[in-house]
Order: sequence, then structure tokens, then C-alpha cells
Amino acid sequence: MAKLTKKQYKKLSEQLMPEKKSVWDQADPAQRKEIMKLGERYKDFLDAAKTERMAVKTILARARGKGFKMYKPGLKAKRLAFNYKGKVVALAVLGRRSPVQGMRLLGSHIDAPRLDLKMNPLYEDQEMVFLKTHYYGGIKKYQWLARPLAIHGVVCTSDGKSVEVHIGDADDDPVFTVLDLLPHLSRKVQESKKLADAVEAERMNLLIGTLPLDMDGGKERVKLAVLKLLNDKYGFNQADLVSAELELVPAGRARDVGLDRSLVGGYGQDDRASAFAALEAVLAVNDPAMTCVAVFVDKEEVGSDGATGAQSRFLEHLTASLLEAAGDTASYRQVFRGLAASQMLSADVNAAFDPDYPEVHDRRNAAYLGYGVCLTKYTGHGGKYGASDADAEYVAWLRKVWDDAKVTWQAAGMGRVDQGGGGTIAKHMAVYGMDIIDVGPSMLAMHSPFEVSAKADMLSAVMAYQAFYQAAPVKANTGRTL
Ligand code: MN
Ligand code: MN
Repeated sequence: MAKLTKKQYKKLSEQLMPEKKSVWDQADPAQRKEIMKLGERYKDFLDAAKTERMAVKTILARARGKGFKMYKPGLKAKRLAFNYKGKVVALAVLGRRSPVQGMRLLGSHIDAPRLDLKMNPLYEDQEMVFLKTHYYGGIKKYQWLARPLAIHGVVCTSDGKSVEVHIGDADDDPVFTVLDLLPHLSRKVQESKKLADAVEAERMNLLIGTLPLDMDGGKERVKLAVLKLLNDKYGFNQADLVSAELELVPAGRARDVGLDRSLVGGYGQDDRASAFAALEAVLAVNDPAMTCVAVFVDKEEVGSDGATGAQSRFLEHLTASLLEAAGDTASYRQVFRGLAASQMLSADVNAAFDPDYPEVHDRRNAAYLGYGVCLTKYTGHGGKYGASDADAEYVAWLRKVWDDAKVTWQAAGMGRVDQGGGGTIAKHMAVYGMDIIDVGPSMLAMHSPFEVSAKADMLSAVMAYQAFYQAAPVKANTGRTL
């Protein structure tokens, strides 16, 4: 080959080694405005959807506003909403083709790491009243001490009432806290220990009151006073706490982060970032070729188990209902053919490269904040254990869909091999034989009470999910003989 001129080198490198550009660098003026507007809607969503139950309500309210109808057998409607136990929700727009020919699915999760209450949570010690907790999902326990917490959830009484409790997020509400020990006295108990052992789960008790009933003598006067306050307002007693689901989450609203307001900081962004983007995408769907579905599931943070997790049979029931709604037969065969012919994005977040901890990332395979939605071909941990590894054919199809729609995206895994890892709902959906891959925004300080994401990546996520819904039906996977 003849010696290259500088011009030839530039041309060749542009052709063979295209550089990744950030969302901001690719965005036109209208998109720059849209990024900031989307950021406002996203913060509102995070504030309204602090638990899975609250997320279901928030999602359904927005869906109703866009013409979705609650599903019931025989209902003639193209835009259908499904509410499963108040903790899982699905929104579907029937396509021109039957669901048996495959659907386009987005699957995000609406649960997030938090503190739950134990079954017998309430006690008084030294005239202070506490609630005992059991953490939910992968938390670093120290992050939950010495910060304002809110309580959200339900208490179900034995006479059949279900009472909603929301304390700590309204402006004039009190908040609660798990105390931390002062540094003067924590040298042995905490500071000389390994980080994972320094805070014991059994010491993570929520302080909720100290004011005794006005009387002479009497046992547990503060606890009784607290119970009286609860009973006056909500009508339940101590025994009712056994049939309650009360979740402790960081109090306060999601906020802009940075002088330039380019970031969103707040609780629950794993995975309500993807849930929000999926919601925006499904609400915008109109007369699609294939049936477009967004499912928002619970229990991902604890392994997708249980009736409301992705491992439940919810998706099969949903497919059967969609087949019926489309005027087709919901036989076992049809349900599984439809699922196997589907394409799905497991809409979940990934860890963004943190320059303070470069040693946990592989710089050449890390997600970068602001560089768009992140495609993760496989998750799992060392040796690809527990991974759902997407087919190359499917990845190639998606690349084309996004490049045609001018979506800024990146491909990245989570951390260095053997450094750790994680899973998503992808492997539980892959059992149906559908094409599935992880796609979601990346974020910093994931699983902390104050996760940080880039507003620019939200636009990319919404565009990526919309392009996925709109892409023409194709056989994305070759050699299928089901
Ligand atoms: Mn997640
Ligand atoms: Mn997670």
C-alpha cells in the first residue's frame, strides 16, 4: 500500500474507526431543549413513583390520559392497561398483526433498594420508639444512616380495609431517621471493621417518636402515644402492622445536579429511569405493525422471584389476554409461539464509568455518562455465569434500527471481568425463546439513596425505545424453527 497522506488517513479512519460522540454533541437545538424538558418530567415521575405501588398508580394515571383502557375480557380497545396486584403494570397497543406473530416488548422494573419493616416492627427503648427494619435489595448499609427517610405503603386491617400511608415527602410532613453513631465513640464498634460489617442490619431501626402520654407511671407510654397518633389518623393498631407493606425510602424530591443542571440526582433511578423512558415510548405508540407492550415488574432487586417478579407467569397470562383482545385464540401453543417470535428489550440501567474508581471498570467496555443509552449484550458475572447472552443477529438488527433513527447509543458491560456483576430480568424472559437484550441509561452511584443520571441519556433512551417499537417486522433471528 502506498504511503498515506494525512487526508487519506483521516478518510480511512472515519470509515473504519468511527468515533463515538456524546448525545449533547449530536443533538440539534430542538433536541437540546427536549433534553431539559424531559428532565423535568422525569423528576416528577421519580417523586411520584417512590415505591412499586406508587409507580403502578403513576403509570396508570398517565396511560389513562393517553386513552389506555383497563383490560377486561371482551373489551374492544387498541390501547390496553393491565394492573397485576397493584405491583406490576403492563401497557399494550395492539398492532395490525396478531400477537402470535410476535410482539415488541419493553421490560423495566419498578422496585428499588430500600428498607422494609419487619413483621413485628414497633418497640420502645429508653423512651424512644423505633420500627425494626429488614433491608430490601443490594444496599450499602452505611448510606441509609443519618438521613431523612419517608414511609410509603399500605396497612391492611383484618376487617378488609387497606389504608395507604404516606409520611415524609409532603413539605410540612415530619421525616424519620436511622441514627448513626458519633465518631467520638465509633472507633471500635464501626471504624476498625470492614465496611460490610461496620453497620449491622439489626441496628438499623427507624426513630419515630419520643413524646410520652401525659400521665403518672405506666409502661411504654411513648409507644402508646405513637400508636394513638397512628390510630387517630389511619385507624389501625399494633396488630395490623403484621399485614402491612411499609417501605422506607429517602425523603425529598429528585433534584438537578450541577451548575449546568445537566444531571438528575435522586432515589430509585434503578430502574425507574428505564421505566420512565419505556412509559414515554409506549404512550407515543400509534397504530403499530406489531403489538407493542411495556411491562413494569416488581421484585427485580431481590432476584425476580415471587408472584409479581419477572419469573412469575404474568407474561404468559398477558399474552393470552392480548391474543383474545386481538380476536385470536389464546391456546397454549399460540401463547408460546407469540412469545418465541417476540423481540424484547430488558430496559434496565447500567453502571457509568466513575473516574474516582477507574480500577473497577474496563475503560474500553464501560458506559459513559452522556454517551447515550447503553446496550449490554450479556450481564451475569465471571465466566458469563447467570447471563442471558443476546444473539449477534439480534444485536446487528438493533444497531441498524438505531442508526437509521439517529439514536446516540453505546455498547458496554458492567465493570471488569471478575470484579463483580449483576443480573436483570433478561434471563427470565429469554426462557421463552424470544430475542432479548439489556438496554438502558447508565448512572453513577447506582443503588445509593442519591443516584445520578444524565438528562441527555434520557432522550437517547426514549428515542431508542421508540425506534425499537416502530421498526418494521423482520425475522431478527435466523434459523428459528419453533
Ligand atoms: Mn435494575
Ligand atoms: Mn438494581
